[in-house]
Amino acid sequence: QYAGPTADEILAKRRAYLSPSIMHFYKNPVNIVEGRKQYLFDEEGRRYVDAFGGIATVCCGHCHPDVVEAIVNQTKKLQHSTVLYLNHAITDFAQALASKLPGRLKVVFFTNSGTEANELAILIAKLYTGCHDIISLRNAYHGNAAGTMGATAMSSWKFNVVQSGVHHAVNPDPYRGIFGADGEKYARDVQDIINFGTSGNVAAFISEAIEGVGGIIELAPGYLPAVYNTIKKAGGLCIADEVQAGFGRTGSHFWGFEAHNVVPDIVTMAKGIGNGIPLGAVVTTPEIAEVLTRRSYFNTFGGNPVCTAAGLAVLKVIEKEKLQQNAFVVGSYLKERLTALKDKYELIGDVRGRGLMLGVELVTDRAKKTPANAEILHVMEQMKELGVLIGKGGYYGNVFRITPPLCFTKEDADFVADAMDLTLSRM
Ligand code: PMP
Repeated sequence: QYAGPTADEILAKRRAYLSPSIMHFYKNPVNIVEGRKQYLFDEEGRRYVDAFGGIATVCCGHCHPDVVEAIVNQTKKLQHSTVLYLNHAITDFAQALASKLPGRLKVVFFTNSGTEANELAILIAKLYTGCHDIISLRNAYHGNAAGTMGATAMSSWKFNVVQSGVHHAVNPDPYRGIFGADGEKYARDVQDIINFGTSGNVAAFISEAIEGVGGIIELAPGYLPAVYNTIKKAGGLCIADEVQAGFGRTGSHFWGFEAHNVVPDIVTMAKGIGNGIPLGAVVTTPEIAEVLTRRSYFNTFGGNPVCTAAGLAVLKVIEKEKLQQNAFVVGSYLKERLTALKDKYELIGDVRGRGLMLGVELVTDRAKKTPANAEILHVMEQMKELGVLIGKGGYYGNVFRITPPLCFTKEDADFVADAMDLTLSRM
């Protein structure tokens, strides 16, 4: 029985004491008091199917008992900054994490967030190459500190800060992009940027395999291999941002980049890595990692034993419960169901994504691809009333983001698809 403050009281306190910039999606935001597996519960005990997974941060399910136990046990033993002393929690997790990555990607730096991980990756690339220029994709989100806000390329997420040496390449977006699904054509823009916007050498290229905040956009096939090749020739490093697509979410692979047959020089991760605990990581090769020995590099809580104990438990749960395979099976099923809705409703312009990283783009005119902004808010609100919490994103804000915990079942998938179907049928 919940005895805490009401939703209205919390909202009033938020307005009084929290950043005015924090947002919520709903007219009457839900007061979430508990999470279990793929379900969230409000103060009245009402159940919601969590189709957004706390913005893809929860992969094993809310409050997974193995992860909770690992956190509690470690918290009782030692909560510390581990950098200056020895403790096995950080090395155990680093080894387990490295074993999930291909080739010589074996050196792990821990951080507290995705922003920090990408900032560090960009710093490492600049030091290693001696170059300054970074290329990222238009429509990218990589974080909100100085360097990562530069790499982020959506005006809604960019403040008017100095952004030196960042170039934004044409987004290889199969739905809205000018070259359709021809990845190699988009890749030529990266060569053009290097030719006309730099000295001919660059520090790095950074991208996700499937853009999350950008509206679940799978990079056009053939794009990444061509771009990685171009970047290598220009002396740069390739950074894969796996903050959303990593940890089995895409179903077919453990990492999003693997579906594109490329091996990055640096991989960054956060969100799902800790199943809700603040944790991020940068993984690279021993040669590249060496650059951080030139000066002191220190992160007080990066890799602290509580977070790394959680991280290790997460990897074990993913394995034990075959969550990647589940993401593939349930994700493919849900995508089929959503695709069937597209055949039924003109409002759905596109259904895309892989595994449990799916997007549904709403448009008022399929030919013009006019963003259906009012409609998406309405559908979202109605789905909440039916007990489904779903995400939203994309540059135009008209794309549903479906990134539930990876323990999602076919019944949950049906529940989400049925709720969307019912809502659309009533419009
Ligand atoms: N990269 C990607 C792809 C993200 O989606 C996000 C967060 N939305 C970040 C980086 C930044 O992570 P954080 O919010 O933990 O700083």
